[in-house]
Amino acid sequence: MAKAPFQDDHGPPTEPGLRIILRRLREIIEEPGDGQSRLDKIVRQIAGLMVAEVCSIYLKRQDGSLELFATEGLNSSAVHRTFMKRGEGLVGRCAEMAVPINEPDAQSHPAFSYRPETGEEIYHSFLSVPILRSGDVLGVLTVQNKTPREYSDEDVEILQTTAMVLAEQLVSANIPGANMAIEFSRRVGHVVKGQAISDGIALGHAVLHQPRVVVTHLTSDDPVAEALRLETAIEELKATVDEMLGSGDLAREGEHKDVLEAYRMFANDRGWQRRLKEAIQSGLTAEAAVERVQNETRARMLRQRDPYWRDRVRDLEDLSDRLLRILTTPNAGGGSAGDKQLPHDAIVIARNMGAADLLDYDRTRLRGLVIEEGGGQSHVAIVARALGVVAVTDVRRLIERIDVGDPVIVDGNTGEVFVRPTSDVIQAYSDKVRFRARQQRQYRSLLGRPAVTKDGAQISLQMNAGLPDDLVHLEQSGAEGIGLFRTELQFMVAATFPRGDRQAQVYRAVIEGAGTKPVTFRTLDIGGDKVLPYMRQDPEDNPALGWRGIRMGLDRTALLRTQLRSMLRAAEGTELRVMIPMVSEPGEIVAARAILDREIDILRKRGGGVPTRVQFGIMIEVPSLLFDLDSVLPLVDFASVGSNDLMQYFFASDRGNPKVSGRFDVLAPSFLRALKGVTEAGKRLGVPVALCGEIGGRPLEAMALIGAGFRTLSMAPASIGPVKSMVLGLHAARTESAVSELIAKGGRSIRDGLAAFAASEGIEI
Ligand code: PEP
Ligand code: MG
Repeated sequence: MAKAPFQDDHGPPTEPGLRIILRRLREIIEEPGDGQSRLDKIVRQIAGLMVAEVCSIYLKRQDGSLELFATEGLNSSAVHRTFMKRGEGLVGRCAEMAVPINEPDAQSHPAFSYRPETGEEIYHSFLSVPILRSGDVLGVLTVQNKTPREYSDEDVEILQTTAMVLAEQLVSANIPGANMAIEFSRRVGHVVKGQAISDGIALGHAVLHQPRVVVTHLTSDDPVAEALRLETAIEELKATVDEMLGSGDLAREGEHKDVLEAYRMFANDRGWQRRLKEAIQSGLTAEAAVERVQNETRARMLRQRDPYWRDRVRDLEDLSDRLLRILTTPNAGGGSAGDKQLPHDAIVIARNMGAADLLDYDRTRLRGLVIEEGGGQSHVAIVARALGVVAVTDVRRLIERIDVGDPVIVDGNTGEVFVRPTSDVIQAYSDKVRFRARQQRQYRSLLGRPAVTKDGAQISLQMNAGLPDDLVHLEQSGAEGIGLFRTELQFMVAATFPRGDRQAQVYRAVIEGAGTKPVTFRTLDIGGDKVLPYMRQDPEDNPALGWRGIRMGLDRTALLRTQLRSMLRAAEGTELRVMIPMVSEPGEIVAARAILDREIDILRKRGGGVPTRVQFGIMIEVPSLLFDLDSVLPLVDFASVGSNDLMQYFFASDRGNPKVSGRFDVLAPSFLRALKGVTEAGKRLGVPVALCGEIGGRPLEAMALIGAGFRTLSMAPASIGPVKSMVLGLHAARTESAVSELIAKGGRSIRDGLAAFAASEGIEI
C-alpha cells in the first residue's frame, strides 16, 4: 500500500521556537489592551521569532473577502484598506482551499495579486496558512521575506500552530470586526441541497448526532502530562476500533468494514502518533495537538492525486473526532442517542448514521434527519421512510456550518435544508405545514369511511410496513391491513442474523398489533441494493439482476426455512399470509411452496400450533411473469405487483440511479397495459391481485391503477388519506373506460390525458 501522506521523511521539528511563540502569544493575550493593539503585537512577535520581514493577519469578511487586519513589515497605512476578493491572490487561495501556500517567489506566481498600497513588491518568499477553528476558515496568517526561498516544513508547522492559537484568541478577544467570519458563518442562513429520501416538511432545532468538538484549552506547560493523556486516549481509541471490528456490531455503527480497517490503520500509524507527540512537545495540549495534526494532515491528503488518500480524509477526520471526544468529554465512549437531551422538535444532523442509531432516538421528539453522506437506498434511508421521519441525504459540509440548537427546516420533497432560515422562509414553510396539517385533518375525518367509489367499487387501501413500530400508523391512517411487511428491515437494523425466536417475536408483535386486520409478510428480500453488513456476499456486476430475493432463499434454504417457521409459529391460531419476492418462473414458486408445506408438516408432527389458514402469494416484479400468468397464478393464493422493481426491469432503468430512474413514466401505455393484463388474468383465474409499490400511494397513479383493474393497493401510511379522498370522488367504471381509451391511444404517457379526465370528473389531485 502507498505510504500515508503524513509519513514524511523529515525529522521532528526542533520546537523551542514554537514554544517561545506560544508563550509570548499567551502573555500578549493576558496583557491589558484593546484587540487591535494585541493583533499588532502578535504580528510583531511572530515576525521576530520566525525571522520574517513581514507578518500579516488577514481576516475574512461576511462576503468571503479578506481584510488586512494587522501587519509588521507592510505599509501600516494599508491596514483595513487592503481587501482581497474571495479566492483572489495567494492569500485568497489559501483561505479558499484551507491549505498552506509556500512560494519561494510569490510575485512570479500566476495567482499573485499585486497591491501597491502595501509596498510588498520587495518581498519574494511567501508563506501563508489558514486560520482555522473547528474547520471554519477565519482568516489567513502570512510571513514574507525578501530573499527567495522555500520555507521549511518546520516553519510551516510553526505558523500553522500559531494560527490555531490565534484563532482561539480571535474568537474570545473583543476585536471590532475581527470575528465577522465566525459571526457570519454562525449567524447567516444557508440553504443546502441534498437528495430527498423521506418526504414531508420538518421545522425544528439542530441536534448533532456526532457532536463537533471545539478545542478551547490549547497550550500547556506540562508536556509530560499531556503526552500521558494522549497515550491513554489513543489506547482507548484503539480498543474501541478493535471492538467495533471484532464484535461484528457493524450495523449499529453504520460503518463498513473497510472504513473501520482504515480507522485501525490510522490508529496504529506511527507517523500520526509521532506527529501528535511532537505537537505536544511544542507546547500544545493533547486535544490541541490532535486538532493541529488533523488540520495539517487534511491539507496534505487533499493535495494527493491518488483518490484513495483523498477518500481517507473522511476516515481520518472521524478518527480524530473520536480521539478529540475521548480527550474532551469524560465517558465519551458510552452514551447513545437515546441518552441525548432532545428538544421537542429535533432535527438530527449526522455525518453518517447506521439504521440502528436512528431507532435509538426518541421518536416523539424526532422531526427530521439530515445525513451528509449516504444514498437514498441506504439502510438508514429505508428506516427513516419506515418511521415517517422527514429526511435528506448527500448534503455536503453542513456540520461545520451548524451549531446545536440552530433552527433548521428540512424539506423532504425538494431535498433542501435551510439552516438558520430567514423569517420569510420560516413563514412560507409554516404556511405549508399548516396547509398539510389542514389536509391531514381532512383525511382524518375520512378515517372511519371505507374507500368506496361513487359507483360502489370497494377499494382496499392497505399500508406498507417493516418494523413493529409502524403499527401505530395502522390506526392513524385507517389502513385496512398491512399489504406488505418488509421483513428485511429487522435484518438490516440488527448486528447479526436475527435468530428464529427473535424473528417470531417480531412477527407475533405485528400480528397481535394488527388485531383483526390482515398482514402480508414478505420473506427476506436481500440482495440488489439491500445488503446485510454481516453477511458475506460476493460482489456482483449487476446486483439488481443477481442473487437476491427468493433466488437467495432457495440457495440458502436454512435461512428461508427458519424464517417461514418463525412466521408459522407467530401466526399460531390465526391466518398467515406469506409472500415471496423476486419470483421469475413457476419452478421457484413450486420449490418455495414445497418448503413452506414441509415446515407446516414438521410443526404439526411436533405437535406445535399452526396457523388456522396459510395463504401463499408471490410478488410480481420480474417481467417474465407477465407472459406466463396463466401458469403462474394457479400456483398461488394471491399476488401483489411490486411496481418499484417491475418498473426498473420493464424499462431497464435502475430505480436507484437518479439519471435514469425518472426517465420513463409509470403511466406509460406499455406499462399500464402490462398491469391491466395482470388484473385481467387474476379475475379470469380467480386469484386476488394487489399492488404494493410506491406508485399506489400517488393519487393520479392510483387512479390509473383503479382504471387498470386493481382493487387493493398497499402504500406508505401517509398516502392513504390523499388516495382515499381521490377514491371517494371517483367513478370506477368510467375511469376504467377512460384508462383503456388512453392506453389504446398510445404515446409516451397517459398522464396529461388522465389529469384532464380527473378535472372533467371534478376530482382534485
Ligand atoms: C417493489 O419492488 O415494488 C416493492 C414493493 O418491493 P421493494 O420496494 O421492497 O423492492
Ligand atoms: Mg421489490
